[in-house]
Amino acid sequence: MNEYDSARLAAILELNGASPAFKPEKADIILVNTCSVRAKAEESAIARIWDLKKLKTENKGLKIGVLGCMAKNRGESLLKDLPFLDFILPPDEYQKLPEILFQKTEPAPQTPFAKLTNKYSAFIAIQSGCNMRCAYCIVPYVRGREQYREPSSILKEIESATVAGVSEIVLLGQTVNGYRYKGLSFAELLKQVASIKGVERIRFVSPHPIHYTSELLALLMSEKKIAPHVHLPAQSGSNSVLKKMKRQYTREAYLSIAEALRSFNPLYGITTDIICGYPGETEEEFKETLSLLQEARFDGAFMFAYSPREGTPSASEKELITEEEKKSRLQRVIDLQHSITLERAKLMLGRQERILLEKLSRRNSSEWIGKTGNFKKVIIPAQPSFKEGMYVDCVIEGLKGHTLQARTSTFNFGCTI
Ligand code: SAH
Ligand code: SF4
Repeated sequence: MNEYDSARLAAILELNGASPAFKPEKADIILVNTCSVRAKAEESAIARIWDLKKLKTENKGLKIGVLGCMAKNRGESLLKDLPFLDFILPPDEYQKLPEILFQKTEPAPQTPFAKLTNKYSAFIAIQSGCNMRCAYCIVPYVRGREQYREPSSILKEIESATVAGVSEIVLLGQTVNGYRYKGLSFAELLKQVASIKGVERIRFVSPHPIHYTSELLALLMSEKKIAPHVHLPAQSGSNSVLKKMKRQYTREAYLSIAEALRSFNPLYGITTDIICGYPGETEEEFKETLSLLQEARFDGAFMFAYSPREGTPSASEKELITEEEKKSRLQRVIDLQHSITLERAKLMLGRQERILLEKLSRRNSSEWIGKTGNFKKVIIPAQPSFKEGMYVDCVIEGLKGHTLQARTSTFNFGCTI
């Protein structure tokens, strides 16, 4: 979501005549886009902002602004803590940027809703805000009530992205599959996206388990353009913890979605988010998270120690787990998940896969990096014809760590879309 916002901000700057500086030392404007979801994200942003202070002595005209959720969460107090900042701007006030930076008082020109993140793939936000109020989460406070974007504007944006060469579309929202607009469901929107010429792969982040309707599941199993991968945050494997978190689903309901997807395609990629050490989480409840990992056989996971966020209901819970215990539980889920990730990767060996080439490897310029439909990273020896955004048929023949190694198929009809 933040990458998407940064791209939008870059588009606003460029529309006002600015161009990328590539190095902070060369910049006249530095905008730091921040995240508040965990304390660590805010702390590392603050450390990065302090690092920028010295650039002001070299370039007196340099303007530094802090944007994103931390600007909303900490507000004016940021200006006191970081007195060298020129301004802060929360996400709901980005339209003021031209006035602040370029003294433009006339209404901002129509900005493209999304700037492409690269040549072949585009993030398209279809929902802003969130109405869920999970007990630990700051997002609803900093991003506001949920709003869904009008389908015609979404489809128009995707059409122009495909004309510019994009073939992979990633729909974004905090509960993206809860999308609805005047009777149009998320599944119906997906169908319309899939019918656009030039769209080859569709992904969406983050869906919420309560919005897996039978209509959506049926579409995921029949529409070939929808990639066989989902990032479906589970947070915990314990029903009592899920209840305290106010997640509104049970472990069984979560697992039934995973089971439906895997019985349709055993290699369906399922990744998740896990929080360890939620207030009051007992060893038994934590073990239920470990057993969820075993049962769901996730292809990968983002795993976090619980971080209390001021103002959220769970921040006032008394039964806190010590930092040491949280760290130890986090390490236990990481260790278990790593072994499962490896096992899931091994299932790919010997398979014929169509990968989307993303970029030349930074470590080794004779190799390219690509992604399978089920969202696994693949390394493949470079060929002169390879280009960003090209689909290449390959055979998975090895593993380096968790990363798949491939060779091009002899009957390769790779093409640029
Ligand atoms: N809307 C998404 C999640 C967005 S936040 C969803 O509901 O699935 C991204 C992830 O950050 C969450 O899935 C959760 O695992 C983690 N997270 C959010 N708040 C947190 C907190 N207070 N402490 C630790 N992790 C947190
Ligand atoms: Fe936060 Fe996601 Fe829950 Fe919304 S659905 S409150 S973004 S964790």
